Amino acid sequence: PPMADEERQPRRDPFYSEMPKVELHAHLNGSISSATMKKLIALKPHLKIQDGMPVDKEDGTLEEYFRMFQLIHQITNRTEDVLMVTKDVIKEFADDGVKYLELRSTPRGEITTGMTKRTYVEAVLEGIKQSKEENLDIDVRYLMAVDRRGGPAVARETVKLAEEFFLSTDDTVLGLDLSGDPTVGHGEDFFEPLLQAKKAGLKLALHLAEIPGLEKETQVLLGLPPDRIGHGTFLHRCAGAGPSLTELVRRHRIPIEFCLTSNVRSRTVPSYDRHHFGFWYGVAHPSVICTDDKGIFDTRLSREYQLAAENFRLSQAQAWDLSYKSIDCIFASGGVKAELRKKWSRLKPGPLSD
Ligand SMILES: [Zn+2]
Repeated sequence: PPMADEERQPRRDPFYSEMPKVELHAHLNGSISSATMKKLIALKPHLKIQDGMPVDKEDGTLEEYFRMFQLIHQITNRTEDVLMVTKDVIKEFADDGVKYLELRSTPRGEITTGMTKRTYVEAVLEGIKQSKEENLDIDVRYLMAVDRRGGPAVARETVKLAEEFFLSTDDTVLGLDLSGDPTVGHGEDFFEPLLQAKKAGLKLALHLAEIPGLEKETQVLLGLPPDRIGHGTFLHRCAGAGPSLTELVRRHRIPIEFCLTSNVRSRTVPSYDRHHFGFWYGVAHPSVICTDDKGIFDTRLSREYQLAAENFRLSQAQAWDLSYKSIDCIFASGGVKAELRKKWSRLKPGPLSD
């Protein structure tokens, strides 16, 4: 019989929650905690949603998780919901020792409430601003997400919006994400709008090779090239003519965002100890540990670090180094990176075990 969730969770080691961390792959709506979900559901009694999540969390498939987002969208359909969610998620990451966070979210309009893509973006930015005013010890940026489902026309619209906010927000909007159900649409179709974004100075974090069989679009999108790769689960298993995709990624040293629990729970990876983080970390490739959807997968960044450390036998010194090197992969400026490195040095505890 499957183990109860508590048994599967490692004993929480305070070293990882106290360690300063960078979170670079967090979808706003998937990061909503169950506490915030309860608040949102209480605000929408007419929807008759029962408490808790509609999917058995131990047994989800990627498809089920995408369905769950539809429910989340129903309960975050007003700008005040988006503002609350943004503030709660930022606070929770800060409480877990995250010092720098790039949140990603798809601008979404809702006819029923009058929320537009623009007011959605403004609500996220307002949440970031209010968190800053509350002096939380966390620097937050926003990546505008392109959902594959919308196709290239919507992508072009999002790129335009991102370019506009990139210029007006003093580096809060830094880039774009390409995400959504990887079985929907063709990644190649997004090459042009994403190239346009890159030319405008926006950074690109793309979900690539999340499932098998996406060699062609992965090859095309690597031609941009992206500034970071989300998951890259099947990169090193892609066969094809010419240099392998793995070689391409290694040659360009494109950092990869690894989300262990997300991949294991949605079954694109068979187990923690067989996660592809092991391969890339083993070849000293720029690797960043992230959560993906901490609400949906009921995890924390500190837990993801601990899981990586326990399954790949990282010492405290190596885990610290992994976190420190993640600073190199952020989209904010060199000045911000320098400040973060200083902060890490200040917070570093005495001698770490090797
Ligand atoms: Zn993701």
